[in-house]
Amino acid sequence: MHLKEKSNRKVKPIDCLHFINGDYRDSHNSKVFENINPATEEVLGKVAEGGKREVDEAVQAAKTALKGPWKNFTSEERSIVLRRIGDLIIDRKEELAALESMDTGKPYQMALDIDIPRSAYNFHFFADYLTSMGTEAFQQDQKALHYSIRRPVGVVGMINPWNLPLLLLTWKMAPCLAAGNTAVMKPAEWTPMTATILAEICKEAGVPDGVVNLVHGFGPNSAGAAITEHPDVDAVTFTGETKTGTAIMKAAAPTLKKLSYELGGKNPNIIFADSDLDEVIETTLKSSFMNQGEVCLCGSRIYVESSAYEDFVDKFVLKTKELKIGDPFKNETSVGAVISKEHYDKVLSYIQSARDEGGTILTGGGRPQTEKKGYYIEPTIIVGLDKDSRCVREEIFGPVVTVLPFETEEEVIEQANDTHYGLGTTIWTNDLRRAHRVAHQIEAGIIWVNTWYLRDLRTPFGGMKQSGIGREGGMHSFEFYSELSNITIKL
Ligand code: NAD
Repeated sequence: MHLKEKSNRKVKPIDCLHFINGDYRDSHNSKVFENINPATEEVLGKVAEGGKREVDEAVQAAKTALKGPWKNFTSEERSIVLRRIGDLIIDRKEELAALESMDTGKPYQMALDIDIPRSAYNFHFFADYLTSMGTEAFQQDQKALHYSIRRPVGVVGMINPWNLPLLLLTWKMAPCLAAGNTAVMKPAEWTPMTATILAEICKEAGVPDGVVNLVHGFGPNSAGAAITEHPDVDAVTFTGETKTGTAIMKAAAPTLKKLSYELGGKNPNIIFADSDLDEVIETTLKSSFMNQGEVCLCGSRIYVESSAYEDFVDKFVLKTKELKIGDPFKNETSVGAVISKEHYDKVLSYIQSARDEGGTILTGGGRPQTEKKGYYIEPTIIVGLDKDSRCVREEIFGPVVTVLPFETEEEVIEQANDTHYGLGTTIWTNDLRRAHRVAHQIEAGIIWVNTWYLRDLRTPFGGMKQSGIGREGGMHSFEFYSELSNITIKL
């Protein structure tokens, strides 16, 4: 074992408590649930299980804090606090990466290179953005001057998924605090550890008590539902499955909460024969199997122009076979374990359905022989499926992709758009006009040409159709996390 691997393994998992009004706390009934490491199936620790009562206390703390010292923080002061949070995340990056890896089963190196630095950058980015924002003003001839001011929305509920736990939580928390709100966050029940540390980091950075609160628990009939139903929660930002979005919308309807949704996807990769195949393969490996395929932006439907199809498939299969799957703490590992036994069974059932529907599995297709424990699934490539098969239509959210050939531009656009989802798409071509032409016709919120996962945090991020409501990033985040008032002065 390498020295570096040894030191990463020394990080001890933590028991997770709620964080309410500046202090860690147990549940009133001392109820807990177990946190399991998906890579080893071992118990990492205990997590306090919150419900209505804990959520109510967290919401009341957040509501009170809106009128406390936080209200008088200038934008410069909020920016300084945000910057400190980002710095403290970087100071603790090895610890946070190890906890994230234990919680999710993802490779430690990925957490260290992507999840944790990006979590810090979310705070650094909004720290800067906040101080350079302007406001709208319109002069109406000699009659009037109109200008708008921004104010916080109030108490924001944050309901988070398990795939990129700290990265996605901080993507919400940073603009929420930048805009002067207070928050009650609920991490996914599978991944409670880094959110628990974030609460402490916020306090250390100078966030006043009550501004950031955390309640652990489940979704329905638990902490998640309690947040969405609470009359004093003014807005809910949710990232997760589309069907959970429906449940939250129903629960939030009676109190008309402002909602921001980042939901599921079934993203197409469209590969034209004129693209640079080596570059396509290198990036497609990542867009297919990064984080075990558990990234909402992963491209799980791969469409390849017929004349390049065989060449692509041969090379793609070869490269996929080289990926190292196994212990997330080993330096060479590029694919870890999927999140849970439940998810493992779900992904394997999709692979079985592909077999039943006449598909051919070119590589992968099950559990790697090398691993006796843990929820590992081999990176799997399926061909020969009909465009209406389950694996082509439904979100699998695991290391499984389908490859289908196409003949014409019109045909592939039609197939790419033939879904209720509309999150991301990648187009590969060296024909500039075609790149623009196809991109303009694709129904997705995020479209990449000759790249994938390249982000600039000023740009709008989010999905159309059933992949989301609203956009996050730069000014778009402020649209959600603040209320605008227009003031008209008669001249
Ligand atoms: P999920 O919907 O099962 O759970 C997400 C969160 O919602 C969890 O914290 C859960 O406890 C909570 N929850 C569940 N039911 C609830 C209810 N009735 N009321 C309130 N809260 C409830 O999603 P998941 O399995 O954690 O995450 C995977 C999904 O997230 C995939 O569909 C993926 O595409 C999507 N996702 C989307 C994006 C994006 O940016 N569009 C990013 C990451 C993940």
